[in-house]
Amino acid sequence: MAITDFHAKVREHELLGGKFQYIDFELVSPPRIQFTAGQYLLMRIPGLDQLKSYSIASSPDQDHSVEVLVDISPGGEGSLYLASLAPGDEVSFKAPVGVFTVADPAGDIGREEKKLLFIATGSGISSIRSHVLDLLQTKKDKREIYLHWGFRYAEELFWEEDFRQLAEYFPNFHFDLVLSRPPKDWPLCSGYVTDCVVTHHSDFSQVGAYLCGNAQMILDMKKILEEKGVPRQRIHTEQYY
Ligand SMILES: Cc1cc2nc3c(=O)[nH]c(=O)nc-3n(C[C@H](O)[C@H](O)[C@H](O)COP(=O)(O)OP(=O)(O)OC[C@H]3O[C@@H](n4cnc5c(N)ncnc54)[C@H](O)[C@@H]3O)c2cc1C
Repeated sequence: MAITDFHAKVREHELLGGKFQYIDFELVSPPRIQFTAGQYLLMRIPGLDQLKSYSIASSPDQDHSVEVLVDISPGGEGSLYLASLAPGDEVSFKAPVGVFTVADPAGDIGREEKKLLFIATGSGISSIRSHVLDLLQTKKDKREIYLHWGFRYAEELFWEEDFRQLAEYFPNFHFDLVLSRPPKDWPLCSGYVTDCVVTHHSDFSQVGAYLCGNAQMILDMKKILEEKGVPRQRIHTEQYY
């Protein structure tokens, strides 16, 4: 779909984990969107010339609305605007934009990606949620799919039950939640998400890696993956800040 101007209405709005704003926008005009998982929208912020980028967190299968997940803790114009929205409010944005898409499994790059690693920090889960829902529910992709999601504190967590349920339902999906500052009794991986990826996997030979989040994680993870022999064209990234 060509980049299009959309008008939409806030249908649902919820604060998650204390600092993440989940918003469901119902499309008004045009009433439908076609996009590829991993793409984002460019939100108009009243009074600001610059458009702000937000990944689409919903599956492309859902074409009458789009969902976003925004870390509002930066507290800039984008955060303040999105945090202020209430059900019924109208917004406008351009979409779809971006190339953080899963390589075509029949193409030269995708053919080598037999095991998919999705690695996110914080709000980086947004684009990755769209990928995971699309691959598992719509495309019925049977490759081994791993989600490694890093947070600082247990109090910030959300959606973990949803991903756990997906992992129960789809045997090829594996969910690994990582806390860098865990509580004492934290039973899962702790530390940086990059370290936990290395602990989890011994074979990187057929990996396709999809990294989304902050610059430092992406830099560190790319270096590790390259040292493990993953070719650059199989390391896909979306850097938020
Ligand atoms: C392709 C793309 C997709 C993006 N998708 C999302 C998304 O789905 N969800 C989302 O929350 N953000 C996303 N971002 C970041 C988003 O566009 C804004 O940068 C962010 O919302 C901050 O905007 P602001 O106006 O509130 O603050 P600004 O004044 O623009 O930024 C203040 C500072 O906040 C920091 N910052 C920026 N983004 C984040 C963040 N996500 N978490 C923590 N600190 C941050 C940076 O250090 C920045 O300098 C995306 C960015 C890009 C380039």
